[in-house]
Amino acid sequence: MNNSVLCLDIGGSFIKSALSTAEGVISHKRQRPLLATHWADFSAAIRSIIAEYGDALSTSSPVALSCAGVVDIAQDSILASNVPPFQGVKITQTLSADLGRTVVMANDADCFTLAEACYGAAKDLPVVLGIIIGSGIGGGIAIHGKIFKGNQGISAEWGHAPVTPTSLVVQGKTVTLPRLPCGCGQSGCLDTLGGARGIERLHQLLSGESLASQDIVQAAFAEQEQAAMTLAVWVELVSEPLAHAVNILGPHKIVAGGGLASELTLIARLDEAVRRKILLKTDEPLLIPGCHFSDGGLIGASILAHQAS
Ligand SMILES: [Zn+2]
Repeated sequence: MNNSVLCLDIGGSFIKSALSTAEGVISHKRQRPLLATHWADFSAAIRSIIAEYGDALSTSSPVALSCAGVVDIAQDSILASNVPPFQGVKITQTLSADLGRTVVMANDADCFTLAEACYGAAKDLPVVLGIIIGSGIGGGIAIHGKIFKGNQGISAEWGHAPVTPTSLVVQGKTVTLPRLPCGCGQSGCLDTLGGARGIERLHQLLSGESLASQDIVQAAFAEQEQAAMTLAVWVELVSEPLAHAVNILGPHKIVAGGGLASELTLIARLDEAVRRKILLKTDEPLLIPGCHFSDGGLIGASILAHQAS
């Protein structure tokens, strides 16, 4: 019997796909640009991907989606999505009707966390907090190898709360920051200053200079004074809400993914700052980089689908 699942990772500009015959195992990876702006074109693109896999998928094989954005289970939709075809659509319900297949969905941060908790850097640990430090800030919780969904599926969204301070003292200097409007509708969310776009905004605010996030980080490591200050402020801004999350959840590990998480020195500095601010005392790193930076969405979708079947 063909027990393959089609795993899809949908970002703002791409559709990654893979097959999975066993939980956490993917093969036949492919990627195509996301060209659709309307649902009908998106649905046609998925049918085309299914056709490409041919007999490797049965007519009843389920489809598992990992999607960028905050998944609202109650509305079967994605909040603040940067994927245009998803706007105003009941996603799993509509796609399931279009394809005649079971469709399951979680957001990319949840899928990454599941991948790390089951087959990655936090394998077999009971409580895992996954954090995404990509273009923005995201998060997921896995408890005993399953996604903890929370009310309406919205949990671990530590990047979205009005938490950024308007004044803080870093390295003896008082820094004043505006509370910027966020895509979620609030102002002062960490997401506005904490991800790659956020650190660029922060550097612009503090120095007047426009630099790419990776260049700011590298300049800071090279002890360029202004970039070093930006990074010090960033570590303070990000470590505070993360410390709150740790005190509330009590994760055995925090696993980091997303573009900035590949900067190991940055993650080590953030880990040290978080451990200074939490009640748990440990000499071991609590925040560690993940193993599944590029395939976390697909692997997590595979786990989701096999757990649901
Ligand atoms: Zn927000």
